[in-house]
Amino acid sequence: MAKPWILERTLEELKNELRAAGFRDFVACQVFRWAYHKNNQDPSSWSNISSVGREKLAGMYEWPPRPVLGMQGDAQGTRKLLVGLADGLKIETVLIPEKGHHTFCLSTQVGCPLACRFCATGAMGFRRHLSAGEIVSQVLTLKKELGPFAGQVNLVFMGMGEPLLNYGNLARALEILCATDGLNISPRHITVSTVGILQSLARLERDFPRIRIALSLNAPDAALRAELMPVSRHEGLDLLLAHFRAHKRRQRVTFEYVLLAGVNDAPAQARRLARLLHGIPAKVNLIPYNASPGLPFQRPDRAAVEAFRAVLLEKGLTVVTRWSKGQEIASACGQLAVFS
Ligand code: SF4
Repeated sequence: MAKPWILERTLEELKNELRAAGFRDFVACQVFRWAYHKNNQDPSSWSNISSVGREKLAGMYEWPPRPVLGMQGDAQGTRKLLVGLADGLKIETVLIPEKGHHTFCLSTQVGCPLACRFCATGAMGFRRHLSAGEIVSQVLTLKKELGPFAGQVNLVFMGMGEPLLNYGNLARALEILCATDGLNISPRHITVSTVGILQSLARLERDFPRIRIALSLNAPDAALRAELMPVSRHEGLDLLLAHFRAHKRRQRVTFEYVLLAGVNDAPAQARRLARLLHGIPAKVNLIPYNASPGLPFQRPDRAAVEAFRAVLLEKGLTVVTRWSKGQEIASACGQLAVFS
């Protein structure tokens, strides 16, 4: 029988299993410190555990993160890693250097069933959800790739897939990633980006109240949004916005708006967008579109982006324009896809 993978276990589950196997409770915390905090998944090298204990642990679980099959980097230091899964499928995960910190862009599904029309991941269709271990494994792999770095790392769930369609595994992964004996990542440094699956969104806000939410909006009205994002026909925009108005969070909600030339980038649409967000503590991230082969959209020119932004600023909104990094290696927002 295949051994369970250590990266699938929460600390509580590991404590229970190790207790049943005759270990004292603190050993589970030691395992978490080695496997996550020190990013060392080789029990034979763990000096503070007895040799008998190390041997027993080595035999109980499968240990290594999933392997890296390929890597592409650009001149700015963005690195996109191709990761092989146990069943032969592949995903992409991205390391992005920023001013004073690094961002890990993580995937939650192989492909995506939601087929947003501007998104390369959506174009590849849906293969399956990632397990909690496969999500956690990306973080360990990106940490290894980053090397010694004591500064802040932000996690953003903006890679392949819609995180809230895979809520159970996402929540379990978050529990593992935030464990104080493990990576101890503060929820304040984690952003879950979603199209807005209302039921799971409410669960996420209840289970992890300090996690940041980014809503992928991309249109100033329900009709255009439904055209660009078919999911919006079922998950109504009015209900989503009413949710954000009613449930005031400590952090502002980020609204992501991919700017598509001639589709959603007119100043009149910016005015509609400002009206739509009225009453919500919001920040708008404008993302000039990153072209992907086979998709029928163009990036607006800089003047159009600036004009759109100026309208939102004039209406009192906080706006950041994200000229996505990693475009030349197709690792920018909406570009991740594995077709083989
Ligand atoms: S934008 Fe997000 S939700 Fe839409 S198809 Fe792409 S990965 Fe899926």
